Amino acid sequence: NRKPFVGGNFKMNGSKTMLKEIIDRLNALKCDDHVEVVIAPPTLFLDLAHRSVREGISIAAQNAFNCSKGAYTGEVSPEQLKDLGIDWVILGHSERREIFKESDEFVASKVAHALNVDMKVIACIGEKLEERESEKTEEVVIRQLKSISEKVNNWRNVVIAYEPVWAIGTGKVATPQQAQEVHLIIRNWLAKNVSQQVAQDTRIIYGGSVNDKNSSELAKQPDVDGFLVGGASLTEKFITIISCFV
Ligand code: 13P
Repeated sequence: NRKPFVGGNFKMNGSKTMLKEIIDRLNALKCDDHVEVVIAPPTLFLDLAHRSVREGISIAAQNAFNCSKGAYTGEVSPEQLKDLGIDWVILGHSERREIFKESDEFVASKVAHALNVDMKVIACIGEKLEERESEKTEEVVIRQLKSISEKVNNWRNVVIAYEPVWAIGTGKVATPQQAQEVHLIIRNWLAKNVSQQVAQDTRIIYGGSVNDKNSSELAKQPDVDGFLVGGASLTEKFITIISCFV
């Protein structure tokens, strides 16, 4: 009974022309009864994207700050996103954590603020290669999840994205078994620490080198409720990936 969810994280890619091509393809796709589709273009293009998508497709920001306004050069607040009509925000992406040194606490504070102003959050968690190799995957993923979950008031507004860092942009996708294993760990943690209902209802999506070839096997896993797609979301492969759930 969880509606599959497919997000496209464009990262710092694309142009107005490219955005139009991507949105034209999505607007032509009939999938709303089966799958929720959300695209996350760069901040600059959020308004254009919002005005261009058909009803049924949503827009996400790739980041947002932890307060509403003020002297924070270069930042964007959830309130401003809402003002534009943007419903979703990706928070805690590993590129934010790594490149921009965002801590668990900072990510959690941003989750708290976004949820408090009624935005929906795609909360990203995932281990690095050396953490997997030293068998710390569960420890890391649960530490990140716990820190976020303490701020969640309404789980209906949260999608959890499991994105192993070693799989992001590397072409080294997690096997369906590896993804399922961690998704189940996450769901079991929610059942034990939040509630059975939340565990049953919360979408847990996979991200990291998802493409048109590997998506259908991943999608068959019982606890994989969709994807957060990077590179392939910029191409026509995104349509094939979404169609796994149609
Ligand atoms: P890739 O699909 O390019 O590996 O990126 C995944 C990702 O980081 C989505 O947020």
